[in-house]
Amino acid sequence: LTVGVVRESEPGERRVALVPKLIERLVKRGLRVVVESGAGAGARLEDAVFERAGARIGDAWGADIVLKVAPPGEAELPRLREGSVLIGFLRPLSDVDRIAELEKAGITAFAVESIPRITRAQAMDALSSQSSVAGYRSVLLAAERLPRFFPMLTTAAGTMPPAKVLVLGAGVAGLQALATAKRLGAQTTGYDVRPEVAEQVRSVGANWLDLGIEAVGEGGYARELTEEERAGQQQRLTEAIGGFDVVITTALVPGRRAPTLVTAEAVRGMPAGGVVVDLAGETGGNCELTEPGREVVAHDVTICSPLNLPAEMPAHASELYARNLTELVELLVDAEGRLALDFSDEIVKGACVALGGREKKGES
Ligand code: NAD
Repeated sequence: LTVGVVRESEPGERRVALVPKLIERLVKRGLRVVVESGAGAGARLEDAVFERAGARIGDAWGADIVLKVAPPGEAELPRLREGSVLIGFLRPLSDVDRIAELEKAGITAFAVESIPRITRAQAMDALSSQSSVAGYRSVLLAAERLPRFFPMLTTAAGTMPPAKVLVLGAGVAGLQALATAKRLGAQTTGYDVRPEVAEQVRSVGANWLDLGIEAVGEGGYARELTEEERAGQQQRLTEAIGGFDVVITTALVPGRRAPTLVTAEAVRGMPAGGVVVDLAGETGGNCELTEPGREVVAHDVTICSPLNLPAEMPAHASELYARNLTELVELLVDAEGRLALDFSDEIVKGACVALGGREKKGES
């Protein structure tokens, strides 16, 4: 069985789906690894490094299992072989047409976004690994844009107070942002609609902002707020946001438009030179003034909406992602290195978004 690692073509995508240090693990399982020439270039991994680790440089698109980061584009889809397996970020909830095309082309596709978030799947959880990178990078971006220090500094020329950082949405990205801002010396506060998060926020040294709104949904995610809750939340957040130099937003509700948490009025109330980093840009953004993918200045506040922060830290982002995918591949092949899709396994069943002519064997 061959595992193919292809070169990403989405603009700005510098990650690669497998790194050399994980090739040995796949080879031990009886798999052969084929890497498309230049696949690792964005992450500073040359072809020769993959070769030394046991891979062959060649036609990765014809492999039995193709590993990708971004979903296949128009030009890439026809390069996948009928009957093959594709694994990657496939945006199954928003790119329904692409998933249908994959299925029609006879591809069996596993979307990393659909891996159930259960304890056994933690090592495969690419959403978490890449969210951690995004959370970390969001703080560095904010620190660079802010015309002030993050830490409190006492110098001969005077004492500078620490920056005040508020993180809205304290899931994986939000908690990493809080921890990173704390390490940089900022005064940190976290907010979420899932009350169980309060303890996690405090555990990374942040204050917990309690607005008295709880919205717990299915599978550990938040649910969408009602109209009334939303209005109340916006009003209370608008009052609170004026006290912060930096607001980092990460709030998502699966399959929905991102909730608006930072209104234009809230931005107007922020100190001059303030920074908003909106990590929810792909689904519309958490700030009313966000322009997804752009950096804008409004009311003297810089609003950044980077769409792919993990790609800006490609070495470690790729390494974490590669480990996630290796774990998943190991679940899809048997001890002899043959494809063995067991749909009675909830991870296999949950992650599979296109069957490409296969039957869900083993499903009860
Ligand atoms: P996410 O990216 O879907 O959302 C980010 C955060 O935004 C969440 O904490 C959510 O509660 C919050 N949010 C949504 N709407 C909001 C609103 N209107 N106002 C304020 N906040 C709002 O979340 P995520 O980071 O992927 O994590 C979701 C859950 O999955 C968490 O409970 C996390 O602990 C859990 N998880 C479990 C595992 C596992 O067990 N394998 C792995 C990773 C994450």
